[in-house]
Amino acid sequence: MRFAKIKDNDIANGLGVTMSFWTQGCPHHCKGCFNGETWDFNGGQEFTQEDLQYIIDNINKNNIDRDLSILGGEPLCPQNVEGVFNLCKEFKKHYPNKMIYLWSGYTLENFDESQKKVLKYIDVLIDGKFEENNRNLSLMLRGSSNQRVIDVKKTLLSNKIVFYELG
Ligand code: SF4
Repeated sequence: MRFAKIKDNDIANGLGVTMSFWTQGCPHHCKGCFNGETWDFNGGQEFTQEDLQYIIDNINKNNIDRDLSILGGEPLCPQNVEGVFNLCKEFKKHYPNKMIYLWSGYTLENFDESQKKVLKYIDVLIDGKFEENNRNLSLMLRGSSNQRVIDVKKTLLSNKIVFYELG
C-alpha cells in the first residue's frame, strides 16, 4: 500500500480530533475531486511497518484522545485494501475503544469479500463517490449528498443499512 500523508491533528474529518491517514491511488476519478494528487498509484510513499508504528505510538500524543480517520485516494481499491485491513486490525488490537472512520468511493452493497473483511474494524463508513452535481459543503463528513454516513456496527448487526447518528 502507498499513502499520501498522515496528519496528526485533524478536526475536519471526524467528530472530535482524529489522526488522519490518506491512502494513495484512486480509480474513481470523480469529477470535481478536491484530492486529485492522490489519484496516482505511483505517487506518495510506501506504507512501512515504521509508519504503522508511528500511528500506534502517536495516536494519544500530547494527551490528546484521537480517533483514526482513513481517507484517500481510495482505501478499499485492490492496491490498498489489504494494507488498510492490516492497519485497522493492528490499530484495534491496541485501541479497541477508539473509533475508525473510513471514506470509500465504493458503495457498501457492492463491496467484494476483501472489502467486507475491513468492516469488522470500522465504526463509521462514509461511502459513495463524490458527485459534483450533489455537492453540498454544509453536510457533516461528506462532500456530496449521495454519500452516506453509515454506522457499521449497527449495520452488521441488523443486516440493513443504519445511518450513524451525527447528533
Ligand atoms: S473517490 Fe475521493 S479521491 Fe477518489 S476521485 Fe472520488 S473524491 Fe477523489
